[in-house]
Amino acid sequence: MSTFLGLPRAVDTSQLRGRPFPEAARAAVADPQLRRNLGDATATIRAKRARVVGEVPDWESLRAAGAAIKDHTLANLDSLLLQLEAAVTARGGTVHWARDSAEANRIVTELVRATGADEVVKVKSMATQEIGLNEALEAAGIAAWETDLAELIVQLGHDKPSHILVPAIHRNRAEIREIFLREMGAVGLPAPADLTDSPPALAEAARRHLRQKFLSARVAISGANFAVAATGTLSVVESEGNGRMCLTLPPTLITVMGIEKLVPTWQDLEVFLQLLPRSSTGERMNPYTSMWSGAVEGQDFHLVLLDNGRTAVLGDPSGRSALRCIRCSACLNVCPVYERTGGHAYGSVYPGPIGAVLSPQLTGPELNATLPYASSLCGACYDVCPVAIDIPTMLVHLRAQVPHPAPERAVMRAAAYAMGSPRRWAATRSASRAGRLLGGRRGRIRSLPPPLSGWTASRDLPVPPAEGFRDWWTRTHGSPPPATPPPAAGGDGAGAA
Ligand code: SF4
Repeated sequence: MSTFLGLPRAVDTSQLRGRPFPEAARAAVADPQLRRNLGDATATIRAKRARVVGEVPDWESLRAAGAAIKDHTLANLDSLLLQLEAAVTARGGTVHWARDSAEANRIVTELVRATGADEVVKVKSMATQEIGLNEALEAAGIAAWETDLAELIVQLGHDKPSHILVPAIHRNRAEIREIFLREMGAVGLPAPADLTDSPPALAEAARRHLRQKFLSARVAISGANFAVAATGTLSVVESEGNGRMCLTLPPTLITVMGIEKLVPTWQDLEVFLQLLPRSSTGERMNPYTSMWSGAVEGQDFHLVLLDNGRTAVLGDPSGRSALRCIRCSACLNVCPVYERTGGHAYGSVYPGPIGAVLSPQLTGPELNATLPYASSLCGACYDVCPVAIDIPTMLVHLRAQVPHPAPERAVMRAAAYAMGSPRRWAATRSASRAGRLLGGRRGRIRSLPPPLSGWTASRDLPVPPAEGFRDWWTRTHGSPPPATPPPAAGGDGAGAA
């Protein structure tokens, strides 16, 4: 059965919105252990990625191909989704359409209930995190067990993921050992009492614990990295093999997929299977790539297609390229802001640079008004993005859309008035020289009165220079600098930014 998508925004935004970023970031940067964990992990992944990307001579062409395929897909999303639905249905699967998280959670809960199961195993999935599926299942009396190692650490630690690819990036080995010893026994096979914090020992404890879950589960829930519209093929790309166990062992498989995860054909998929592993884990090829088309014999397969604000993003020509994202997390690992604050500060299941653009777009900019400012606009995220999403430009676009407080608007209006005439600007120069007094001997202003205190709350302000540019020009050239000509009609429009 076909249906129509198109609720303007995500209805339940609890997984996409947390505390304002400046408030949450302040706590994070004050935690030296967290900063050490993040710094070590991101530096390692960054170096691995740079090495393997450097091996590919046509990387930039691949990147351009990835961007073009995604743009073509987004431009034809309506017909490609119907093609996918027809192909999955023809191969024995059932397709469900969910406008928002509430609808998706209801569909999945009813499907699990229909099997009589009271627990499910899960493959790591951003879409199910976005809709808060684990919490919804728990409210319905169904236990959902994460089977990805990092997700397991987060779940057992009663924590939240802080990275797209490495959700437990903020934890070190000693902390993980402690969590396993404390928590595993309460929900399944306990960790051995003599567990050490060596990676093989921790992995073995997780393996034994999870094996019991795989063998007893009757329902598995996954996301999908890609879906091929032409054949109805779904794909999960992973490193540990837990995904394959979930996808093949339980008799019922439910996949929740954001509607943007489509590619038209298998040839298109080939491009992304090269771009994704090198960008995410810094590997030439990921160890496990599972693909399935519809239901296999003896298995019941359901595909839930999730909108949850995506058609609203699609409707914004300046913002829609965020839907190209393949969730590789390369942008997180190079971002100087993410490296210092970690993912929790973003208050969304999508942290880092992509979270700073995607979350406000999915929820509406007013609900995540501070996230577009969680960036230095250095452009490193754009450089590494395998589908060339121009995140800095989108951040600026979103900054213009978020509601600005009245004092800030008043200051900007006053600045525009002063800069509107050479005479008025000259008057502000003498006032700004007086600002040097506020800096005292340090030469830095530490606090200003409201409303300017918002600026100095998190940064020092350098004092105005003793001699401004116009004064310097006049002194060295013997006359004031020439007036700047007004921009020609049809120019680059920089004044409207
Ligand atoms: S925005 Fe680009 S770099 Fe960041 S997660 Fe998405 S695809 Fe990867």
